[in-house]
Amino acid sequence: MTAISGNDLLVRNVRPLGGGIVDILILDGRIADTTTTAPDGTEVLNGAGALALPGLINAHCHLDKTRWGLPWQPHTPGPTRDERIAADRELRRGLMASTKDRAAALAEHCAALGTSHIRTHVDVEPEFGLTGVEALLELREQIAERITIELVAFPQFGLITNPGTAALMEAAVGLGVEVLGGIDPSSIDNDRAGQIDAIFAMAERTGAGIDIHLHETGEEGAASLELICERTQALGMSGKVAVSHGFCLGTVEEARLSGLIDAIAAAGVAVVTYAPGDSPVPPLKRLAEAGVTVAVGTDGIRDAWTPYGNGDMLERAMMLAYRSGFRRDEDIELALDAVISGGARLMGIEDRGLAPGCVGDLVLVEAETVADAVIARPSRQAVIKDGIRLPAVSSR
Ligand SMILES: [Zn+2]
Repeated sequence: MTAISGNDLLVRNVRPLGGGIVDILILDGRIADTTTTAPDGTEVLNGAGALALPGLINAHCHLDKTRWGLPWQPHTPGPTRDERIAADRELRRGLMASTKDRAAALAEHCAALGTSHIRTHVDVEPEFGLTGVEALLELREQIAERITIELVAFPQFGLITNPGTAALMEAAVGLGVEVLGGIDPSSIDNDRAGQIDAIFAMAERTGAGIDIHLHETGEEGAASLELICERTQALGMSGKVAVSHGFCLGTVEEARLSGLIDAIAAAGVAVVTYAPGDSPVPPLKRLAEAGVTVAVGTDGIRDAWTPYGNGDMLERAMMLAYRSGFRRDEDIELALDAVISGGARLMGIEDRGLAPGCVGDLVLVEAETVADAVIARPSRQAVIKDGIRLPAVSSR
């Protein structure tokens, strides 16, 4: 007789991606073959005809910056990137000590909404040192059964122009951070090649991945993106480098865009978008057709950068579809596929899906089809992580 594991669960009467009703058996955290019968005593969850989705992936967040769980604070920073950066630094001075608590509140909320994995950028710079990284490293150990957290050491306040930052980023990797961040090498550091070369050199030394914020638009951003692609190819880092935001992809002319998409595809650089409302969204369909990995995040949630955000990746898929002008089901499904499959490819998460052998991360919602689930964003009927049912979502 097979021993029952804490990660066993029989999920009855669900419709994978809106298909016909089946039972999904999870044994030891993985989806079992359809011919396997549940061992006696296996916990049963009745899905009552719910649509089943794989666990959702938030590929770009800033857990350390959030004010989640704190009283509402009106948004006061001015509209430019630099004004938001200045406000961020000022506000965070009073919030560093509570980083772990604030990040935990938001991460638990995201988990309850079906996010199984989250890549979060964490500020690293001399004034705050590694305070944020240490808080997030502690948190991810404590919360690992409910959500998997990947960390990016992020030079929010500049790398070349903020001496000491590079050494702290490398130290962060030594502590267990997986990815090196970057930001607008040309317009933040006024040294495109200097910042990009410093990040790639660190990656070469440490084996870490790279994920660079690129808000730069037009030719300024295009030139940075080209250099990132060039360095990725030169160092054989295909599949380990991402550009977040990539606003330039929505602001250059057609001929330039075509060339950039070819360069991104050839280099194996991923693009991460949060489907912003006030900046151009990279062309998801064209990037996907070119074989480029496109993943989706929320970016900051209720912080100095924005009062918006609720951590719901179904909602973010809807926003990506909406901003992309998608109406047909297959296009709306592409937006959710970027959240799930794109996020998995970006973060190297294997076995993502609902087939036998995949990890038992499931989200159950009352919806007819995948497109219906994206548009309606129903409350989560159940969320399962590694075969364990999570507590219900908090009210906010
Ligand atoms: Zn960001």
